[in-house]
Amino acid sequence: MSETFFMPTRLISGSDCINLHADRFDAFGKKALLVTGAHSAKDCGAEKDVITALDSRGIAYAIFDRVMSNPTVECCFEGAAVAKEEGADFIIAIGGGSPMDAGKIIAILAGQELTHEALLTGGIGSSVLPIVMVPTTAGTGSEVTQYAILTNDILETKTNIVSERIFPKLAFLDARYTQNLPLATTIHTVLDALSHAVEGMMSVRTGAITNALAIEAIQRVMAAVPLLAEIKADTADIAIAIPIDVRQSLMMASTLAGMVIANTGTTVVHAMGYSLTYFHDIDHGRANALVLPAYLSHVAEQNPDLAQKVLKALDLPSPDAFRKTIDALLGTRESLNHEDVQRFAKMAIVTRNIGNCIVKPKVETIEMLFQESMAG
Ligand code: NAP
Ligand code: ZN
Repeated sequence: MSETFFMPTRLISGSDCINLHADRFDAFGKKALLVTGAHSAKDCGAEKDVITALDSRGIAYAIFDRVMSNPTVECCFEGAAVAKEEGADFIIAIGGGSPMDAGKIIAILAGQELTHEALLTGGIGSSVLPIVMVPTTAGTGSEVTQYAILTNDILETKTNIVSERIFPKLAFLDARYTQNLPLATTIHTVLDALSHAVEGMMSVRTGAITNALAIEAIQRVMAAVPLLAEIKADTADIAIAIPIDVRQSLMMASTLAGMVIANTGTTVVHAMGYSLTYFHDIDHGRANALVLPAYLSHVAEQNPDLAQKVLKALDLPSPDAFRKTIDALLGTRESLNHEDVQRFAKMAIVTRNIGNCIVKPKVETIEMLFQESMAG
């Protein structure tokens, strides 16, 4: 059986890794644009560590800190204008998947003149600024993917811009930055990583390498689930409730699962999740986790051997047990009316994700999956 695997990002992990490897920035130029959300990059200490490292190497910087969750195309054009104005040689994105994805698009737009339409239809020129990533959530794996997912108000969905040119050159994985990530964001992002790993195993592009990475990622997430499920929502000190070694393990799980989807793509689960996020503002990871158990049950009916492989990795006896595990983390599920079920299923069936599924759903199946996944 043939298999291809590609992952060109240099990864440096561990406590204080930015400071310890500050010389790695030298390769990218004399001025950086830091791309962040409004608060967390500063609050978690990552931005300060990056600035200290840049100062120590004589590298200048400017900051664009206006990336919102589920970034828009307009936000990326705004960031690119700053990059051009400041003469940035490279991009350092600090944050969750939103600033990391925006950073990738800013790197494209700062390097050349592109229209909104050209960008959304994949017309990516050859001149893309080098990209460095500092993830502050453990979930998306954007630091090791060639994807940038933007809110697309023209198509009313999330559009995935795909190009090997936006693989980051370098990523620093320091779990200390995730220590104060609130419980709900921690759970939702971790479930995104779990979804990436499980979907990777159920993709037509799965192989020995991605399976090995997916199984390791799944085991790391599942090892943390009992702890995450027992923490009270109003816990006074999240940094104590989730020890740093658990945070480190989850950060690595997220990166491993990112390497999986960089090579397998995602499935109908992500395709369904995009509408839940776009129209109902449900966090990306939560949206996938709502749908994933129903799809695994469907796979168990259509391809029991494949479902068995996934259940073995999860160390669970059945799809029902998987749903109970996810429910313990998600709490009350959101509801969806019949009209939305039909509309979202029609949108999901035409996505590229369907081609990735070993068990390919029909539009009626997707409707059924939404009904099984959402409350009343
Ligand atoms: P996010 O949208 O980046 O961040 C969610 C929230 O968490 C924001 O309010 C953010 O605050 C906050 N936050 C981030 N780090 C924090 C920290 N260390 N401590 C406290 N708060 C923190 O969430 P995400 O789930 O990581 O990313 C979701 C996005 O990634 C979606 O757009 C999704 O489509 C995309 N995605 C991309 C890929 C890929 O391969 N490219 C894969 C999966 C998902 P601030 O706004 O202040 O930063
Ligand atoms: Zn995802």
